[in-house]
Amino acid sequence: MSRVLLRGAQVITMAPDRPDAEHLEILVDGDRIAALDESIDAPHAEVVDFSGRILIPGLVNAHLHTWQTALRSAGADWTLAQYLTHLHGECVGHYTPADMHIGNLAGALNQINCGTTTVGDWCHNVLSPEHADAAVEGLLQAGIRAVFLHGTPYRSPDIPHPLTEIDRLLDGPVRDHALLTLGMALQGPQYSSPETAVADFQAGAERGLVVTTHQSGGEPSPGWEALRSAGLFGPLTNIVHGSGLPDDWIETLVEAGVTFTITPENELGQGHGTPVTGSLLRSGAAPSLGTDIETAVPGNLLTAARIALAHQRSLDHARHRQTTGTYADTPSVTAKQALAWATVEGAKALGLTDRVGRIQVGMQADLVAIDARALNLWPAHDPVATVLHADIANIEAVMVAGSWRKRDHALLTTGLDEVKDELRVSGQRLLRNIRPTGSPA
Ligand SMILES: [Zn+2]
Repeated sequence: MSRVLLRGAQVITMAPDRPDAEHLEILVDGDRIAALDESIDAPHAEVVDFSGRILIPGLVNAHLHTWQTALRSAGADWTLAQYLTHLHGECVGHYTPADMHIGNLAGALNQINCGTTTVGDWCHNVLSPEHADAAVEGLLQAGIRAVFLHGTPYRSPDIPHPLTEIDRLLDGPVRDHALLTLGMALQGPQYSSPETAVADFQAGAERGLVVTTHQSGGEPSPGWEALRSAGLFGPLTNIVHGSGLPDDWIETLVEAGVTFTITPENELGQGHGTPVTGSLLRSGAAPSLGTDIETAVPGNLLTAARIALAHQRSLDHARHRQTTGTYADTPSVTAKQALAWATVEGAKALGLTDRVGRIQVGMQADLVAIDARALNLWPAHDPVATVLHADIANIEAVMVAGSWRKRDHALLTTGLDEVKDELRVSGQRLLRNIRPTGSPA
């Protein structure tokens, strides 16, 4: 197994018992972090000098419909209703397994390029086992760590989740790959009947899988109460958006250990409702982050972290202004919290807390090096804030499970031009199915 010693960097471990940033050396042995100290003696290790860089745990994008990558930017001006009509009504049925593959491959490569080492691939367009296998293959080919969240199209709302397919994936493609785990992307109480929602959640619980569901833009449907009565909310339940859930519901869910993933840019832009960051913080929890749909917004998770932070601060200042006439004296949330949403909280949402999200001995070696010497970051007085200032161009190196995926600011992937060509052809063909807004259905 290869041993790599990373030297010279400031390290943000995100471990609760350590300083925000410190000069540490990291020894990677195989796929794990083997040692973490001010000075490490590792005679036979390859030494990499990361002076001037900041090392962070790989980012965790907890919610991405990676299969939509070929439609990038096509829905930038769609509302949520238009997105559902055009994409889920007109387009999804035309996806072939090859479209799923290239979307997931290109989308996952982009995630790595942006510093994401783990993605929650919310794949709610699995039209056949071949579509599932192709989507999984795209993730594996990219070399990203992924939770493949198996889902079905929204066109058939009250059909129970196909469990034979879940079991087939558990027995085959997922079991065989260390970087891949499986979860269930359920239509859930917002889109299916209470009986179906309960049966689907029960099936996930029986298999010990993360179950995740969308909720946005309205009061909770009766299915939410049915799930609560059945005792089906727990730490492996993940709610995406959560907009529209009243505070008492959020408190109940947080108490049960449920995680929440917000996707602030498209939530604010499309009409989902206000990100629930504040409700979660008041309940003693915190959000994880996703970028949701590249159809509408970019896939860079650090952008999501910045928007979530600024949005919550804005709400808190406005609330303070209402009572005092002026802005608050102290920030209500910090840059460190926002970075935790993009790392630690993402790992929790995907059931991977024991593997990723922090730099600690025994954890998987999922690491990102940010070049803090760049003109837009230097002199980088505050390392945590510097990470949030970083753009994709500052992401110098990315390691997943001890293997480099990006070095010297370039992905270590061959055939990128072919990937881009295939993505363009796939996107152009799929877009022909979308009618102009306002035309007869
Ligand atoms: Zn989504």
